[in-house]
Amino acid sequence: MLPVPDARVEVPRSLDEALSLLARAAQQGVRARVLAGGTDLVPNLKRGQERAELLVSLASVRGLDDIGESEGELRIGALSRLARVSAHPLVRDRAAVIAKTAALIASPQIREMATIGGNLCLDTRCRHVNQTGFWRDALGNCIKAPGANVAPPCHVVPGGRHCVASASADLPPLLLALGARVRIVSRDGERTIAMGTLYRNDGVAPLTLAAGELLAEILVPTHGLRAAYQKLRARRAIDFPVLGLAVALRADADATCRQLQVVATGVTPAPRAVGKLDPIAVGQKLDRGTVAAIGARCREGLKPLTTFGDDTEWRRDMIPVLVRRAFAELGFGG
Ligand SMILES: Cc1cc2nc3c(=O)[nH]c(=O)nc-3n(C[C@H](O)[C@H](O)[C@H](O)COP(=O)(O)OP(=O)(O)OC[C@H]3O[C@@H](n4cnc5c(N)ncnc54)[C@H](O)[C@@H]3O)c2cc1C
Repeated sequence: MLPVPDARVEVPRSLDEALSLLARAAQQGVRARVLAGGTDLVPNLKRGQERAELLVSLASVRGLDDIGESEGELRIGALSRLARVSAHPLVRDRAAVIAKTAALIASPQIREMATIGGNLCLDTRCRHVNQTGFWRDALGNCIKAPGANVAPPCHVVPGGRHCVASASADLPPLLLALGARVRIVSRDGERTIAMGTLYRNDGVAPLTLAAGELLAEILVPTHGLRAAYQKLRARRAIDFPVLGLAVALRADADATCRQLQVVATGVTPAPRAVGKLDPIAVGQKLDRGTVAAIGARCREGLKPLTTFGDDTEWRRDMIPVLVRRAFAELGFGG
């Protein structure tokens, strides 16, 4: 079994204390990480693909796992465990698709530990970096691995200088498609931003969170968008998505589309919204032909790389299939 590398662990009793620890670490140039459920961070530390001098555990911080509703928004505290999110009556009533998607993540045991905030802040993944240091060293490391060579290669895009390790969390594409916002806090105050601006297309540093900041809450409008999420993975349990597609839409009673958003995970470092869908979909009846055209546009706009393995053609060919399944789930395209 791989040991967890040495790091100072602090278990603050309040949010203020946690933010002070993070602020002090940022000032002193100490590499700090927030530890929520630890289901991703701890294995990453063990494999040496991530390094931390200080772990700030949120285990004893109260008030970050509330689930409630105000002013037309479902509010989910970042520390809410996925098992609770998927079982919570308010989530199931206002946005059942969030409950359903949370239940697709990992395994029951992991969902009892894993938090929604950790899911939104999940590190990017790649078959080259998600290995032990021993394995990586044999291949010559890569851009994302800490302590990488002076001019580290990318094993996915030979000659590439930009890390393409992929977003692989299930909830971000869905929450983005639903128009969610996130509340971010630090010792200097707080800001609420559109969730899209939390991400950047950089496999090494995929989040725009500044040192000293943490994610406190997710705010999801409950304004009547209908949404579905489809997940592609090797096994129907435990596995991360090698492709995930969220479809959110608004349509008239006669199936005329008024609004459409398709967001993918498992393709690029940030969850990716498919562009140029409005001319195909908006104002059209969501029948079999329109859904097929939407699927074709998504296939054209999303180009999976060999980030997870040599299965890019399969993943690409599955894009229109997942689109069709998502629309069928919503009662369209039949
Ligand atoms: C076997 C296995 C299978 C898995 N399958 C899936 C899957 O199918 N789909 C999927 O999406 N995930 C999967 N995961 C990954 C992981 O379990 C989940 O994404 C989980 O939600 C992460 O939450 P956590 O609380 O454990 O995060 P942690 O591991 O504690 O943290 C993850 C990252 O987020 C940061 N972070 C956590 N909370 C905050 C916060 N409030 N503010 C700022 N930064 C924060 C941490 O610093 C760290 O960088 C799997 C993991 C394992 C081990």
